[in-house]
Amino acid sequence: MTRDPRYDILFEPLRIGPVTAPNRFYQVPHCNGMGRAFPNSMIAMRGMKAEGGWGIVCTEQCDFHATADTTPFTETRLWDDADTPYLARMAEAVHAHGALAGIELVHNGQDTGNLYSREVPIGPDHRPVKWQGHPIQARAMDKADIRAYRRWHRDAAVRARHAGFDLLVVYAGHDGTLPSHFLARRHNHRVDEYGGSLENRLRLFRELIEETKDAVGATMGVIVRFAVDELMGPGGLERGNEGSDAIALLAELPDLWDVNVSDWSNDSMTSRFAPEGYQEEFIAFVKSMTTKPVAGVGRYTSPDAMVSAIRRGVLDLIGAARPSIADPFLPDKIRQGRPEDIRECIGCNICVAWNNLSAPMRCTQNPTAGEEWRKGWHPEALPAKDSDAHVLVVGGGPAGLEAARALGQRGYRVTLAEAGDELGGRVSRESRLPGLAAWARVRDHRLTQIGRMTNVETYLASRLDANQVIAFGADHVAIATGARWRADGVGRTIREPVPGCVGDAVLTPDAIMDGRRPAGPVVVYDDDHYYLASLIAELLRRTGHDVTLATTAPMVANWTQHNLEQGFIERRLVEQGVRILTRHQLAAVRDGAVELVHDLDRRLIRVPGRVVPVTMRLPEDALYHELVARGVANVRRIGDCFGPSVIAAAVYEGHRYAREFDTAVDPDRVPFRRDVFQLDRPTP
Ligand code: ADP
Ligand code: SF4
Repeated sequence: MTRDPRYDILFEPLRIGPVTAPNRFYQVPHCNGMGRAFPNSMIAMRGMKAEGGWGIVCTEQCDFHATADTTPFTETRLWDDADTPYLARMAEAVHAHGALAGIELVHNGQDTGNLYSREVPIGPDHRPVKWQGHPIQARAMDKADIRAYRRWHRDAAVRARHAGFDLLVVYAGHDGTLPSHFLARRHNHRVDEYGGSLENRLRLFRELIEETKDAVGATMGVIVRFAVDELMGPGGLERGNEGSDAIALLAELPDLWDVNVSDWSNDSMTSRFAPEGYQEEFIAFVKSMTTKPVAGVGRYTSPDAMVSAIRRGVLDLIGAARPSIADPFLPDKIRQGRPEDIRECIGCNICVAWNNLSAPMRCTQNPTAGEEWRKGWHPEALPAKDSDAHVLVVGGGPAGLEAARALGQRGYRVTLAEAGDELGGRVSRESRLPGLAAWARVRDHRLTQIGRMTNVETYLASRLDANQVIAFGADHVAIATGARWRADGVGRTIREPVPGCVGDAVLTPDAIMDGRRPAGPVVVYDDDHYYLASLIAELLRRTGHDVTLATTAPMVANWTQHNLEQGFIERRLVEQGVRILTRHQLAAVRDGAVELVHDLDRRLIRVPGRVVPVTMRLPEDALYHELVARGVANVRRIGDCFGPSVIAAAVYEGHRYAREFDTAVDPDRVPFRRDVFQLDRPTP
């Protein structure tokens, strides 16, 4: 297939100072939970992006001094030459495919507690550190500190050049780096030449850029990554005032402007709260203020939207973190004239959450993300089939669909039977909740692929029982029948059924997603802490219900702090008039009211209405157990039917089933390669 000429502009090279990017696909720096702790995994993940056609592939933020210790986050590090080898390997892996390698130096200043290094944090002012609310303060830097900091940055830039990087990102964004702390009025109350006027607050950033150019600018392109709008009104940087004034003052200094909005939760908004291209309105002005090329992000997955952003003069380079995780081969698919094969990011931020938990990132759409080295999984290639086995997949949710797709790609004959009238399982149901339409991409990508395969057949309205499965006579059976939400209040906190939590007093999340609605007021009881309770509350408010959201946690949608959604969720519920009760457990449902007890003072309150318990799910595994009891061999459970979890886990388990099919797996062995530390030789 040949590329659509409409997309040619995406493949034009672009000069960035002394280096040239081969195309307009720029994998911006992004955290990944691997970094220095899992270097082999990190290197292979970055190399895969270059193989897939990203013209520039960057590290995540890379701390460069012991006063900027990002522990417990597992990001890259360049404190001295001891850190160079694995970063050099990353640059090599990127160069091997003709891409440019970029590195983003970071000093998180007053935000880090320096938990590992034990150095006293530094910043423009005395203040408590921000990350995780540690009882540690950053101290105000004096002039000697500022000189030292500039020297460390310059030395790190030289080290990065020696490690083989082509591009260096000077970083003042996300309200999380020293130059951005100096720049923000609310952080900087200095009375010297580094405080006061915008020019003064910008001085440190300007010095860093100039000194970086001086040190490495002859051979490296210098990118400036800068948040032009903090989305906090006049209390922060905004386009139209200091956000644009700062660009004007530094306009021609960088070789490339990489602009975004701040903080990270605003920059990486989920699809529930922001559509593709959502940053354009904030950053579009930048190109009019500089002759240098401009890059930006906005969860672009559509080549038409990318071309449009370039043609309209908003961007020169299409920056992407999440779209490059969901599909490392996005550029290649456009280049090869098959954009419909792009595995589009759904904007769920599971990748972000795993990173924030200091674990290797996971992706809902791309089950191979993070497995490139440790399992040797390639996002596009699968081994050819090892036999002529015919596989029956029961259930067409994300697990069943991915198993069928990947088995089909391997060449196996697959029959997929789905009980309902549509494929997609929970993904189809949940994508109809407010703001989650993009989640249907998990289903749609797989249906597009399966639709082309003559060896995969799908049947709707086909609820199979054990007799039918046995009569079908497949060589292997994958049971992907999913899970159902419990109705009785049992979950993480309460381990016995709640009195009265039965019958008409209860509506389960499944019933709500099936379209049932309570007649009067409702209490959504959350012991799950992810997104679903808040979405059901939002849905029922939209249909005019009086809604109380009671949660056992101290915060609404507590877990979503990890995927950066918590603040947005809470604000939306408050705006919609949902009554919020934190730290409350379900005690009983009786006489038309839901009884809740506060977990500290045990005070009981009664809220009239019915309850929607969002507590836990039980696997739909009766079919599996009956087949096993009747002696059917070669039957496996996958996805939520095996272990209810996030959608990413169901996709992964479906993929894994297909990868490991016809392979002997030793259950006693660690199922992947590990980065293992080498011990120093004992001191003689
Ligand atoms: P997962 O996340 O593990 O893929 P889902 O709950 O999303 O699980 O999907 C499970 C799918 O299995 C649902 O679409 C459901 O209709 C289907 N299903 C459940 N039982 C059967 C059955 N006995 N035969 C066919 N399909 C079934
Ligand atoms: Fe996109 Fe979700 Fe994958 Fe992250 S985990 S890249 S947000 S699909």
